[in-house]
Amino acid sequence: MEPSQAILAVRPSERHMYAVRDIDMLIELAKENPAMIVIMRATATEENIDAIIQRLKEYELQGRLIRGEERTIIGVVGAAIPPTLQEEIERFEGVQETARITRPYKLAAREFHPHDTIVDVRGVKVGDGSCVVIAGPCAVESEAQIMATARAAREAGANMLRGGAFKPRSSPYTFRGMGEEALQLMAKARAETGLPIVTEVMTPTDVPLVARYADVLQIGARNMQNYQLLEEVGRTGMPALLKRGLSATIEEWLLSAEYIIAQGNPNVILCERGIRTFETATRNTMDLNAIALGKRRSHLPVIADPSHGTGKWYLVPQLSLASVAAGADGLILEIHPDPDRAKSDGGQSLTLENFAALMPRIAAVAGALGRSMAINAEPELVGA
Ligand code: PEP
Ligand code: MN
Repeated sequence: MEPSQAILAVRPSERHMYAVRDIDMLIELAKENPAMIVIMRATATEENIDAIIQRLKEYELQGRLIRGEERTIIGVVGAAIPPTLQEEIERFEGVQETARITRPYKLAAREFHPHDTIVDVRGVKVGDGSCVVIAGPCAVESEAQIMATARAAREAGANMLRGGAFKPRSSPYTFRGMGEEALQLMAKARAETGLPIVTEVMTPTDVPLVARYADVLQIGARNMQNYQLLEEVGRTGMPALLKRGLSATIEEWLLSAEYIIAQGNPNVILCERGIRTFETATRNTMDLNAIALGKRRSHLPVIADPSHGTGKWYLVPQLSLASVAAGADGLILEIHPDPDRAKSDGGQSLTLENFAALMPRIAAVAGALGRSMAINAEPELVGA
């Protein structure tokens, strides 16, 4: 078997042939909190649907019909689903497929939406099987710093530029970012290099401002459960990069993604950035399980942040490679022209040279798994 086939063989998305891509239909269905869904064939008749509704009634269950342009889905709602119901309903005429939904999140769940979601960031595809690399400083510090970093990132083959304008810092006495000026500098770097920009938004009221400049709105680990922020970012419809909270379970992380999608925004990129454990030798513990399990439980792309995951620049290469091997759709890496003088997170930032040296190794691991590196956005698509 070819390596790429080996991956496809274990990807649940490849086992499902149906497509339910209408987000409004899915949101309507999720609100019903169904325990099971029945997807009818496009050719199913009203009699076929009625027969199922009748059978559900016999079990004291309700069938909620969601009618899309192409097909109808029945959400099965009720307290007790008999263990044999799924098998029984699959034998009914007109039924394409059924799925049990046992998770508290619905829209983010793989069962609800078996196909991998691909988030398109100005032409860079996240989640299409390729490996995306986002690189840049923890924080924008000056024009010279961000421009030098952006040029080096582009040169080394990065697909997007990261850089914080509003920084969530554990201590209020440390550098907290340059604010809008940093966003303007990021836009300038994008105009020159063509790299789309990823930057954090910390409060719901800042969303309109940050959204004017950013291509991807980053939601930081400390804000993963700021539900008003999640909803505000959801309402923009823009790509969102959702960091996992320091002490959040995988289920809580996916429930946070649910908040964004429930606003009609399916463009969520999950990001594992290390969690807090008993271990103090590293800043955080990079949870590779969360990458592999995130991909299995959800259709959303999952990327990895080994910079915050380890807190040590000399561990970033190894954990970058391990994350790609664990199935990450990409990496977000902190890089800096002079890490020793960085205003934040210098100890975990790669030099521009070390980053350039790492890129071919990432490509080699991706290649060994039958994956390619993501294609860069065309510079002409990207304006200031
Ligand atoms: C960051 O990306 O610089 C950052 C603050 O990340 P996190 O929210 O994961 O700590
Ligand atoms: Mn940082």
